Amino acid sequence: MAVGVLALQGDFREHAAMLSSLGSEVLLVRRPEELAVVDGLVIPGGESSVMDKLTRLFGLAEPLRAAVGAGLPVYGTCAGLIMLADTVLDGISGQQSLGGLDISVRRNAFGSQTASFETDLDVPVLGGPPVHAVFIRAPVVESVGPNATALATVADGRCVAVEQGNLIGTSFHPEITGEHRFHEYFLQKVRSAGFRS
Ligand code: GLN
Repeated sequence: MAVGVLALQGDFREHAAMLSSLGSEVLLVRRPEELAVVDGLVIPGGESSVMDKLTRLFGLAEPLRAAVGAGLPVYGTCAGLIMLADTVLDGISGQQSLGGLDISVRRNAFGSQTASFETDLDVPVLGGPPVHAVFIRAPVVESVGPNATALATVADGRCVAVEQGNLIGTSFHPEITGEHRFHEYFLQKVRSAGFRS
């Protein structure tokens, strides 16, 4: 079983290190042939408008949409969450997402770089103590459609983590704080989906 990390841009190394530490075989994905052999995929944080352009340039956008549609487990953090959203608000002109999550996200919803912040979140689906979450120019899930489920909200009630079938998205970055429960939760989905078997 190999888990891919989309490695066109952003903090893919941190995700690869987290997945390796949990015992996964990790493949950095930059080409459709690499996507074709993974059992799950992480889309990292970074800059969603750049990631959007690069996925199209590298011929990955359509294969990614097809894989999401076919049920490939995918976990997106921050820019990765934006890539998985059906609707992106405040995108740059012409920005597209892959879609898959029945949500609308607003980019940079907490303000600019200086508005980055850390907080503790209750995430009932993970069990255990609160998640220490780091938000960096983070998006917020502005609406959650009937097919998606909110997993966590910040103190003012805004949604920052969702799941839908084999897809998970978080506005924040567990990969940079050593918080491994989201990746474990994702790996459970990868194992039970058995996408390539
Ligand atoms: N603001 C970035 C975007 O719009 C996301 C930031 C991040 O991934 N840390 O894509």
